[in-house]
This record gives sequence, structure tokens and C-alpha cells, in this order.
Amino acid sequence: MARIDLDHIRHAYGARTQKPAQYALKEVHHTFEDGGAYALLGPSGCGKTTLLNIISGLVQSSEGRILFNGRDVTPLSTQERNIAQVFQFPVIYDTMTVYDNLAFPLRNRGVAEREVDRTVREILAMIDLESWTNRKARGLTADQKQKISLGRGLVRADVNAILFDEPLTVIDPHMKWVLRSQLKQLHKRFGYTMVYVTHDQTEALTFADQVVVMFEGEIVQIGTPAELFARPEHTFVGYFIGSPGMNVLPVTLEGGTARIGTNEIQLHTAPTQAPNGTIELGIRPEFVRIGREGMPATVTKVEDVGRHRIVRAKVEGHEVAAILGEDDEIPAEPRMIFDPAGINLYADNWRVETA
Ligand code: ATP
Repeated sequence: MARIDLDHIRHAYGARTQKPAQYALKEVHHTFEDGGAYALLGPSGCGKTTLLNIISGLVQSSEGRILFNGRDVTPLSTQERNIAQVFQFPVIYDTMTVYDNLAFPLRNRGVAEREVDRTVREILAMIDLESWTNRKARGLTADQKQKISLGRGLVRADVNAILFDEPLTVIDPHMKWVLRSQLKQLHKRFGYTMVYVTHDQTEALTFADQVVVMFEGEIVQIGTPAELFARPEHTFVGYFIGSPGMNVLPVTLEGGTARIGTNEIQLHTAPTQAPNGTIELGIRPEFVRIGREGMPATVTKVEDVGRHRIVRAKVEGHEVAAILGEDDEIPAEPRMIFDPAGINLYADNWRVETA
């Protein structure tokens, strides 16, 4: 497996015809470590697939270089880059058996038949396809075919990386959970370098050690699920990760105090440097308490989502979501307290360092 360096990658589709160029990727400079499990997470159109295709060689980037273990592979084709890919829809041979579909990439590389057999059977067992071994792929359902595609992606231990582009889209919800945890086990067992594109936060957070959040053609944060939750580096990360996402409210700052209208919030930490630009306070609904103390709030909606209730209220005209515990009550004149432990400050959408 390989360490993959993305060296100042920029990409514009049809750059020669479009002036000025519209960048699908604005500037991506990042390393995927050897043996790491990464998710590329972001909304539709943020550039995830473009980046994946640049790594595999399906797309040549307009600018920048790709290195595998320090070697420049930018001019190389997909095949020369030795990458396995699993796409959104199954790519398999319908006329072959399930077994032969998995064996094909190995035989193609001249792997000895005994080794082919051992590897194929191991992968078939790990993704619960043993009972289908001798069935022709043609008769199988879409999600069974996609499992074969996954198997084909995983079968070769000599690839530099395995790239997945929303591979579980056609899989039913229960099976998604099963396959995600099987992928995780396979990763632990074989130490693949894996890059997994998704727009689904649950999928990204359960699959990856490191989640790479993309927004408008840029990487805005790379971190563990816990880091993305506790310290979103960009307001978009706070909004996109979490359910509901982070509340973001305009504030003014005076040292260790943030002001929302006439309300004052004492901060645990103050910015290390006076920030410029539009200043906002970010707080996740998990850190907002509703009670008889704090800022006056007007409740606009209460949603019961089973485990807890989500309360939406207006504070100084701004919508704030809070999560209400099972036994918590909403008083007649509700007020809100923001737990300082859960506050992050932002200047022009980027997190401000505090101490
Ligand atoms: P999705 O989840 O919808 O696939 P994505 O995050 O993978 O989104 P990309 O498919 O990489 O995003 O697209 C990034 C931008 O590049 C979008 O604005 C898209 O319209 C544009 N784009 C993608 N492929 C092409 C193409 N072949 N020609 C022109 N523009 C493209």
C-alpha cells in the first residue's frame, strides 16, 4: 500500500475553453498516510468525486502533482497507478460466477492458482458471499452484485490504495451497517490505504479514522469524528456534522465576553488575538440548556425524535436548536443557557484560536 501525497492540486473542467476557469477543486494539498482509512465527506458538487478520480488517474488535474510513496505518478494511467476502485454501481462480469469475478483481478496479475483460491475464499467469507460462490452473477440482485464489486476491490493486497465512490448507495439500510463494519474489519486485517467518498456523515464517521471534510472545492478540515464534533474549524463543518448541526449566531466580543443583543455570555477562554471580520458564536444543540435562567427564548417548534426532543427557539431573532433530555420540561417563560464548554468562536467562518 502507499502513502498518497496530493501536491497543490487544482482542477477546472474544460479549463482551456472556460475563461476565467471555474475551479471544481481550488487548492488541495494533503497526505493520505499509508494504511489510513479516510472518508471524503461533503455535499453534492463539492469536488469529492473529482478528487478521487484525480487520485486514480481517471481525471488529469489541471495543476499540481500526485505522489505515491514519494514517486510522481501524475503522468501515469489508472492501470499503471495500480489502484482498486469501487464505484456507486456494480462493475462486474455478469456471465462469470461470483468466485470467478473475484478471482479475475488476481489471475489477470498472474497470481498462482492456490493463492487465488485462498484469497478469494477469505474475502467471500468476510463479506458473507460464500453461499453464492458458484452462482452466475447475472441472477443476483443489485445489492448482491455490489457486494461482489466490493469483493473485487478488496481482493488484491498488492494495490497502492482502494478508492470507494459512494459504494453503498444501492445497498439496503441494514446491509449498509453490516458492510461498513466488515470494511472496517478488513481494513484492520489487511492495512489497506482506503479513501471513501460519501455525502453521508454517519457513513463517514463509522468508516474512517480520519474524515476529510470538503466544501466548495476545498478541504476545510481533517480530523477524527470526535475532533470534528468538538472543534469544527469552519462553520460549515459544524453545520454539516451533527444532527441537528451546530447553531451559529452573530456576536460582538469584549475580551472574555460575547454579546448577543443585550445578553452577555461569559466565555471560558478568550481569543488569543482580536479577530477581524464577521464574528460568530458556534454552539452545538447538545450544549444548549433550556430552563428558567439565561437568555429569553421563544420556542417555535418541538420535534420528538424518539430518544430525545429537539427544541427550536428564537434568541434575539436568531434560531437556536437545543436537545432536551427525556425528563426536561420547557417552562412557561423559557430561557436558554449556552454551556461555555461547548462554545467555539468564528471570524468569517473560520474558528478563532482561544486560550
Ligand atoms: P456528487 O456527490 O454530486 O458526485 P461531488 O462532491 O463528488 O458531488 P464532483 O462530482 O467532483 O462533486 O463535482 C465538482 C464540481 O465539478 C461540480 O460543480 C460539478 O458540476 C463539476 N463537474 C464534475 N464533473 C464534471 C465534468 N465531467 N465536466 C464538467 N464539470 C464537472
